Amino acid sequence: MRVAMYYNNRDVRLEELPIPQIGSGELLLRTRASGVCGSDLMEWYRVKKAPLVLGHEITAEVVEVGAGVHKFKLGDRVFSTHHVPCGQCRYCLAGHQSVCDLLRTTHFEPGGFAEYIRVPKINVELGTLRIPDSMTFDEGSFIEPLACVVRAQRFARISTGQTVLVIGSGISGLLHIQLARARGAERIIATDISDFRLNAAKQFGADATIHGSEDVPAKLLEQNGGRLADLVIVCTAAIPAIQQAVKTVDRGGTLLFFAPTAAGVDVGIPLFDFWRDEISVATSYAGSGDDLKEALDLIRDHQVRVADMVTHRLPLAQTGVGFQLTASGQDSIKVIIDPLL
Ligand SMILES: [Zn+2]
Ligand SMILES: [Zn+2]
Repeated sequence: MRVAMYYNNRDVRLEELPIPQIGSGELLLRTRASGVCGSDLMEWYRVKKAPLVLGHEITAEVVEVGAGVHKFKLGDRVFSTHHVPCGQCRYCLAGHQSVCDLLRTTHFEPGGFAEYIRVPKINVELGTLRIPDSMTFDEGSFIEPLACVVRAQRFARISTGQTVLVIGSGISGLLHIQLARARGAERIIATDISDFRLNAAKQFGADATIHGSEDVPAKLLEQNGGRLADLVIVCTAAIPAIQQAVKTVDRGGTLLFFAPTAAGVDVGIPLFDFWRDEISVATSYAGSGDDLKEALDLIRDHQVRVADMVTHRLPLAQTGVGFQLTASGQDSIKVIIDPLL
């Protein structure tokens, strides 16, 4: 079978691998849509495991069913998650499934940028969902990224009537904008340094936008009746944007770091101001279980519109092009790799 093998952000090669053999309790899937994620482009993080097949935002068709699998049959249209938590350890029981040891070691094989995927037993049992007939494979590929957003906003305790500032209007920022709207945010303002992405932010529901080159806190006060934001969601690793973000949270508000910096990079927090103003800092990593089910429902019910976010559909051979498009983000929102093209 053909796969897109990742060496680094500028070197992704079409290579051949054997079709994976499945065992009992496992599934073989034929990939139908595989989204390129911003995290695939975190080169410092990915390159140490290279060469490897990336891709964790997939939908697929079941083409082989292992012995003992009763939940799925040939031809089922499914979403499957790369990582699954055990559901039983102290972290899982506390609601932090994303830091479960099992979650950090499970994955399907070889990755989403491949014609076929072997889904291990535990992923079949705990991380595979049938998608409704009304949902396209492309839409279903947003279940994983939206699940991360669902989880993050829950951790940030978003509530109705809030003013939400989204810093960085790439794909995750746009999902945050739409979900914040669905959660009843009253005013949503988005920033970015790209006019293309600022327009996208408006198209997907931002009430107003601020260019990142401006004095974001001052502009926010102007646009929000003299008040800062109740919830600030950081969707970029850009340090200047993060420095702006810490100055835009209102008293009693929450600063949510959705995107990370590179490991080892420290970010300054004005602790006295945060202490006196009771500002919370929230983080979240990945999504799991209920987040995935909730994301599926939100997409199915069109509370979050994802179909219009797909700007490019490319064959496996052009996965590298897809990475470049996603990295530049100048004229692309979501790039989907379709191995049948
Ligand atoms: Zn992702
Ligand atoms: Zn666990």
